[in-house]
Amino acid sequence: MPSDHSGCRQRDMSGQQLQPKSDGLKGEHEIAEDGITIQDLFGAGVSITYNDFNVFPGFIDFSVAAVDLKTHLTKNIVLKTPLVSSPMDTVTESEMAIAMALHGGIGIIHGNFPSFGEQAKEVSKVKRYKQGFISNPHCIRETDTVRDLIAIKAKFGFTGTPVTSTGAVGGKLLGLVTSRDIDFIPETKWASTKIADVMVPRERLIVGDENFTLTHAYDILEAEKKGKLPIVNKSDELVTLIARTDLKKARDFPLSSYDTKGQLMVGAAINTRETAKENVRLLQEAGVDVVIIDSSNGASRYQLELLQWIKATYPQLQVIAGNVVTMKQAKLLIDAGADGLRVGMGSGSICITQEVMAVGRAQGTAVYQVARYARSRGVPCVADGGIRDVGYITKALSLGASTVMMGGLLAGTTEAPGEYFWGPSGVRLKKYRGMGSLDAMEAHSSSQDRYFTSESDAIKVAQGVSATMRDRGSVHKFVPYLYRGVQHGFQDIGVKSIEELQEKVYAGEVRFERRTPSAQQEGGVHSLHSYEKRLF
Ligand code: NAD
Ligand code: IMP
Repeated sequence: MPSDHSGCRQRDMSGQQLQPKSDGLKGEHEIAEDGITIQDLFGAGVSITYNDFNVFPGFIDFSVAAVDLKTHLTKNIVLKTPLVSSPMDTVTESEMAIAMALHGGIGIIHGNFPSFGEQAKEVSKVKRYKQGFISNPHCIRETDTVRDLIAIKAKFGFTGTPVTSTGAVGGKLLGLVTSRDIDFIPETKWASTKIADVMVPRERLIVGDENFTLTHAYDILEAEKKGKLPIVNKSDELVTLIARTDLKKARDFPLSSYDTKGQLMVGAAINTRETAKENVRLLQEAGVDVVIIDSSNGASRYQLELLQWIKATYPQLQVIAGNVVTMKQAKLLIDAGADGLRVGMGSGSICITQEVMAVGRAQGTAVYQVARYARSRGVPCVADGGIRDVGYITKALSLGASTVMMGGLLAGTTEAPGEYFWGPSGVRLKKYRGMGSLDAMEAHSSSQDRYFTSESDAIKVAQGVSATMRDRGSVHKFVPYLYRGVQHGFQDIGVKSIEELQEKVYAGEVRFERRTPSAQQEGGVHSLHSYEKRLF
């Protein structure tokens, strides 16, 4: 006999006790297997994507914090956070890559620079990054004037500027000039007062050694009541600057992605031209941990040959090949030595590939089919593109992806390249563009090189659009939100790790259901006059 939560017997409207009715179920204590397995979800031969299905809730007997999202990016690289920023010129340069790695994910530096050397430099910046250290402080020369200093202050904001022989990091340290040193100089004398006359000279400066730990540096700043500590090498050249305020702000990043030398991990994208070999050499020298061979269709002779060359020349370097959406493409690249696969063709928010090229696959099906094959070969997959929100990340992982790559979701953040500007409706925006958009193709010579190499290539066929994204604030707030959101999703599904999720999915224990367009509508915000969507 069924009972309600208070333990009272239920009665029907006439006052008689409600009798159990079988309704197709076998017996009083049995339930029919509800929902469908992942095999059934993708068994119909129709492409589906994240929005077309739901994952069923499971049983919760653990806290959100107990969910561990550790995962493999490639055969040999393990991350604590399954999030990757896309190699796009409006998404990932060193600032984004540093932020992603600090939060346990990884950033892939794009390959759309005017020269390969500049891409390698961005990799070096990530490798050299030390938390709390200002790696590229603005410097000034002794012979510059207070007016020059005021201009730097107006542009970048500062409270202390190192004075070096070259006016840049790497020059001999000659002094330090702070706001306090120039506060009482009248504006009429700014142009005639030399920095040498107002700075605190080198002999009166307290400096740190380049081998100092942050804790040691902090202790010195505290003890000496100083705001800035220039760090010099043995030749007394400026290496970096440490600011007390930054140290105070410096937070603990327990998930950070470090390599074996204790440096942040970083990836870089390369193309499939012959010159990519030189690119790989420079990236390797800069310390890159993983390269992604960046192409919309990874199943090409160009990619196979390059992949085989890299694995033969730099066997330790991890290579993610792609993009692929079918098992056949996946097999080709795995056979050629890929350490990871990037999955997605035509699913990106800025993408017009499926419209223009007529090829591609809905992302849910692509991830499921490729990941289940790659799993049988021990190769992890990155689900690339089409991630609109935190739930999409959980769904991609449930379909077999080990990590998730995002372009649009990260494009409006502070750490994405480019300046903010105000849109017509007073919204703060950043530019976001497809790497196959005319805008990106025309931007730099290397991408020109990629597209227009012969007479026959002179007609451009864009595969992406140029767009704008709303300001999303800093990755330092956004990525922890995404991480915690995925933990909540996992808790609702009743699994504590990506490995457990995928085992239970393949075993048919975690179940799914397709949803109709009206169910999709119901699953979003609806029927309101107006609303505000604040996420974190
Ligand atoms: P691509 O470099 O793979 O291909 C561009 C053109 O160059 C193709 O016609 C290709 O056949 C040719 N090509 C490549 N290597 C060659 C070689 N060694 N010799 C002669 N010809 C060669 O780039 P793409 O697929 O056009 O993608 C460009 C960018 O846009 C990438 O960043 C990519 O990620 C992005 N994109 C992604 C998708 C997607 O759905 N994921 C779709 C379109 C574009
Ligand atoms: P998003 O996260 O949905 O914005 O998709 C980002 C992904 O779109 C990238 O990681 C690329 O795989 C893909 N992409 C980048 N540029 C282009 C393009 O110009 N056309 C099609 N796809 C692109």
